[in-house]
Amino acid sequence: MIQTNKLVVGILAHVDAGKTTLAESILYKTGSIRKLGRVDHQDAFLDTDAMEKARGITIFSKQANFFLGDYEIALLDTPGHVDFSAEMERTLQVLDYAVLLISGADGVQGHVETLWRLLERYRIPTFLFVNKMDQDGTDAEYLMKQLKEKLDERCVAFSVVTSDKGDESESWQNCEILPPEDFLENVAVCDDDLLERYLEGEEPSDDQIARLVAQRKIFPCFFGSALKVFGVEELLKGLATWFLPKSRPEEFGARVFKITRDEQGKRLTHLKVTGGSLKAKQLLTNWQEGMEDGVWEEKADQLRLYSGASFRPLPECSAGQVVAVTGLTQTFAGQGLGAEREAVLPVLEPVLTYRIGLPEDDVKADPHSMYMKLKQLEEEEPELSVIWQEETREIHAQVMGDVQMEILKNQIAQRFGVTVEFGEGSIVYKETIADVVEGVGHFEPLRHYAEVHLILEPLERGAGLEFASSCSEDVLDKNWQRLVLTHLEEKRHKGVLTGGEITDMKITLADGRAHLKHTEGGDFRQATYRAVRQGLMRAQSVLLEPVYDFVLEVPSENIGRAMTDVQKMSGSFTQPVLEGEFSILKGRAPVASMGGYQREVTAYTKGRGRLTCMLGGYEVCHNAEEVLAKNSYDPEADLRNPTGSVFCAHGAGFVVPWYEVEDYMHLESCLAPKLTEEEKLALEAQKAQQQAQTRGNREVVLPEGISLDELEEIFERTYRANQKARTGWKKKREPLENVTRRWSGLQNASAGELEESRSVSFYKNNNNEAEEYLLVDGYNIIFAWEDLRELAAANIEGARNKLMDILSNYQGFHKCVVILVFDAYRVEGGQGSVSKYHNIDVVFTREAETADQYIEKTAHKLGRNHQVTVATSDALEQVIIYGQGARRLSARELREEIELTREQIREVWRKKRTDTKNYLFDHLPEDMADMMEDVRLGLREFGEESGDRS
Ligand code: GDP
Ligand code: MG
Repeated sequence: MIQTNKLVVGILAHVDAGKTTLAESILYKTGSIRKLGRVDHQDAFLDTDAMEKARGITIFSKQANFFLGDYEIALLDTPGHVDFSAEMERTLQVLDYAVLLISGADGVQGHVETLWRLLERYRIPTFLFVNKMDQDGTDAEYLMKQLKEKLDERCVAFSVVTSDKGDESESWQNCEILPPEDFLENVAVCDDDLLERYLEGEEPSDDQIARLVAQRKIFPCFFGSALKVFGVEELLKGLATWFLPKSRPEEFGARVFKITRDEQGKRLTHLKVTGGSLKAKQLLTNWQEGMEDGVWEEKADQLRLYSGASFRPLPECSAGQVVAVTGLTQTFAGQGLGAEREAVLPVLEPVLTYRIGLPEDDVKADPHSMYMKLKQLEEEEPELSVIWQEETREIHAQVMGDVQMEILKNQIAQRFGVTVEFGEGSIVYKETIADVVEGVGHFEPLRHYAEVHLILEPLERGAGLEFASSCSEDVLDKNWQRLVLTHLEEKRHKGVLTGGEITDMKITLADGRAHLKHTEGGDFRQATYRAVRQGLMRAQSVLLEPVYDFVLEVPSENIGRAMTDVQKMSGSFTQPVLEGEFSILKGRAPVASMGGYQREVTAYTKGRGRLTCMLGGYEVCHNAEEVLAKNSYDPEADLRNPTGSVFCAHGAGFVVPWYEVEDYMHLESCLAPKLTEEEKLALEAQKAQQQAQTRGNREVVLPEGISLDELEEIFERTYRANQKARTGWKKKREPLENVTRRWSGLQNASAGELEESRSVSFYKNNNNEAEEYLLVDGYNIIFAWEDLRELAAANIEGARNKLMDILSNYQGFHKCVVILVFDAYRVEGGQGSVSKYHNIDVVFTREAETADQYIEKTAHKLGRNHQVTVATSDALEQVIIYGQGARRLSARELREEIELTREQIREVWRKKRTDTKNYLFDHLPEDMADMMEDVRLGLREFGEESGDRS
């Protein structure tokens, strides 16, 4: 560790409290500038930008340097307007000390409290300066009380304005700034140790006070007027006495807090050296252990020490200094370099997004090149989040509010010579999930291979995203694991409700597989992205909306109105507090409903009310249904963020939709309970028996030493009875549409085309008067059909669902009543259940009732008035059914019947197909389209062997 006297100090306040003016007087008082500039005369040292001068507000944080006693200080003036709070927050990350400025005329308002919370969050030792004490009506004693009550009890006055101001103009000149008599006592009560010694007669020393300040155990408060340079000296003396030298690591480290461009357009990386030193021309790298992706190494060309608008090049700068570095192109705000590992992400983010309208007749303003230009701006203001919407060919940007929007418009005009307009703002929604799911992604076009299994679980509100791996390195190599984690972190993954960013979830890499020869880096990217999306499709998604923490100050006669309004906004609040004639209401309310409320407040309080809003994170959306009804996002049509996977068969890749990925995946599910050896054996036996039966052959090959009865018994005991409990796979009920798409082989047909198919009346059903009944013995059929049997071996629920889908489509065409029966007779205490699956009935029999008993009973009941068909392959059942006069369909016949129906449906589709063919090709995921294009050009052959897969 090295001790340094170099400190970074920031001035923070609400707009107009006098930050720039205070900075000006500090520089003047310390001899850094000779002439005192004034914001109002547009010659303030720190408001250098033309826009700032014109508006008289600080938009960009800036720097001035001065010496104070032994200390070399970099003073950062931060923007105070809420619209620029992200920039302010980034500056906080590099401060050693803060001076929080409060306007004596306004007192402690909502915004000051928010700043206080941020200072707490970043643990920055803080001095307070209560400004504008020259103005009439300011009362130091009252203000001091407010500071203690609203901010912290340990705010201690170190200088106060004494004599009465009277009411003459310039009366402040009669005032004196003096240390309060009892201040040492006030200091002592802030710390138990000090208090004990104080009571024994030992007064706190400056050194002790400095330590308390550094630990945020005491907050020295000063009073005065920045404009009249009055009380500023006392503040400076306090700072010089109670600053402490910082010890900093010897190893080089730096934190980037801002990216800007100078007048020549050179990219500047503003950073604070937090350890060691940085020399001009030094090579910088972002290489860190565990990072293979996107490593860069660049030269820190020039080190500039800015002061106001001008700078001085430095050969070297050391820990505790803030410099602007040229020559770096890969840096971003919040980034850590060298020993500073983690990037810090701000808590304040914009929650409104605006469409950027471009002038139509301006050639410079074609959407694509404008997009690239705006991306450049985004570098400087990362939370702008400029997005290109391919579907509408529009540019969208996230902005904090009106003022920032206007500034942006100006910046764009100045820099790119294009006048843009902002459309109406819309809320930035986010999404999370309500249950734990497994997401599977597989990527295997020819000569590629990767499979990823992720567990997605919900976290509490505000937790953000967490990533982890629980996968053994024996299963998946460490390097691949790191890659998967990088891919999880590198992207804002889109949710499946509205396409909003996902948050408040933990995503754990649970399993994965690479191929020795064929896996390339990009394959894991594909598999990871797809796994996230597949998991989201399986999960129950929850829509989140941004909320404000608000403070509403209104004349007490308006408090009733205020509370009613907030309630109407679906907001919440705590007991209002009375303060003089004003009532203060604090609470939370959705941004969507509170936006623009200031105007109303101003109207009904006749200009006396004040609303302060600060973003308070995200909560479950209060009107999710309404939002979703208006939302047109279709996750399956979002081809840039595919939900399905790519598998390979006979040397060619093919797309498997998300709801079928489990049927194809190579690794076992990590969430579904694993089958025991016994259960696997039982299932094997069941298969063997079924095979024997279909072949009309009674010979069954049995595992040694076990009889058929025994196996049957094991099967019943362990497997079937447990089926209901085996819900490791959460099958989200698919829309019927998807079933049709898949079943008819037209996965990619558009919604309109499917709609059309309805008019062909596939799905006119639920006709209670139906004459025809089809009763299906579920498990019997599953085990008789080879594909379902195979599926059942891995995932019995999947097989059931598949049969349900098949029958559902069959019903759609034939319009008979389909009753699918599964026996659950070994389920203890089972009541049995009948449920609707789209257009068919699915029955689980009750305890001690077999499927054939149920079918027999039902066939008997219905047989008298209706035409009943029973589908089963069970010989015994057949006899009984014939007795009931029901028609019987064997498993094979049912299959044929279904194939026939399928063919009929296809015929109808085929007519449309010619039109849709080109459409489909255009809408294939990129990788598939590329592959097919290769095939077309003869670069690749369908059916080419893909080689062994490990
Ligand atoms: P900032 O937005 O916090 O940077 O505030 P400025 O420094 O731009 O000041 C805002 C306005 O308040 C300007 O008109 C200043 O002249 C005025 N002002 C600043 N300090 C004082 C002060 O101590 N007394 C009075 N009366 N006015 C002040
Ligand atoms: Mg300012």
